[in-house]
Amino acid sequence: MLEVCNLKKHYPLRRTKLFKRPGAVKALDGVSFFIRKGESFGLVGESGCGKTTAGHTIVKLLEPTEGKIFFKGEDITTVTEDRLKRLRRELQIIFQDTAGSLNPKKTVEWILSEPLRAQRLLDRFEIERKIRESMELVGLDESFLGRYPHELSGGQKQRIGILSALILDPEMIIADEPVSALDVSIQAQILNLMNDLRQRLALTFLFISHDLNVIHFFCDRIAVMYLGEIVELADAEVLYGKPLHPYTVSLLSAIPGESKGKRIILQGDAPDPTKPPRGCPFHPRCFARIDVCTHIKPTTTEVSEGHLVNCHLYQR
Ligand code: SF4
Repeated sequence: MLEVCNLKKHYPLRRTKLFKRPGAVKALDGVSFFIRKGESFGLVGESGCGKTTAGHTIVKLLEPTEGKIFFKGEDITTVTEDRLKRLRRELQIIFQDTAGSLNPKKTVEWILSEPLRAQRLLDRFEIERKIRESMELVGLDESFLGRYPHELSGGQKQRIGILSALILDPEMIIADEPVSALDVSIQAQILNLMNDLRQRLALTFLFISHDLNVIHFFCDRIAVMYLGEIVELADAEVLYGKPLHPYTVSLLSAIPGESKGKRIILQGDAPDPTKPPRGCPFHPRCFARIDVCTHIKPTTTEVSEGHLVNCHLYQR
């Protein structure tokens, strides 16, 4: 369904008197993966690792600096306005801040009708009917159509956010931290709803989250990101059963119930992305580093079918 090849998004820094060659923030630095039809693929990592930039670049909210994006075999790295409009019908995003993405001055019905009006595929009566019939998909009834966002709970806002992404009948959804702003009790309801919709509508998902429990619940395969790069990628059960990269091991060690050994506390914060460390970018925080890690960057190794690791410990 989707293939991303060596995707990069760099933000050049301003030249100043002090910094004649200021460089760039490498928010994404050579990310490659594919997602099969009907699959739910997870991107996980700490805040600032590049996972949201990846999602926004794929859905064409950001232009990539380098690399290629293929959707159903078609190169969509750069598209015309007309193709972008059609792409919006096939590839949709659910935002992290749903409350902020719903127009506070408009009713739920207006919010849901907006994407349908923009596409000009249905007349007014067909739009009204589609919206009324779609409400049951997210467990809400027609009485919500006349309400404004401030009259909805956090969970109801998220249901409307999900429905506004589904209203054009897309084939693929990019879900960017879709439950991180919700109470834990509501998170489970929304995740169950999304899982249900995934099966019912045969949707493909790119699911972005910093929460390893949420990612484990929702995803078939998972990529772990650090400083704009994928450091490990595997089937969910392989990754959680036998994590290999020291960063993945330390992340999983912090989850109650998932940890197979003692908790590993990461040393320090993630490095300044404008000055990533030489060698392996993770080496200043790595409990397993060896001499070579400080000056040579590891490359990706496939340690078993579909299990990719970017670490000197597994290089052949
Ligand atoms: Fe740690 Fe070295 Fe592997 Fe990087 S390459 S994760 S520093 S062991």
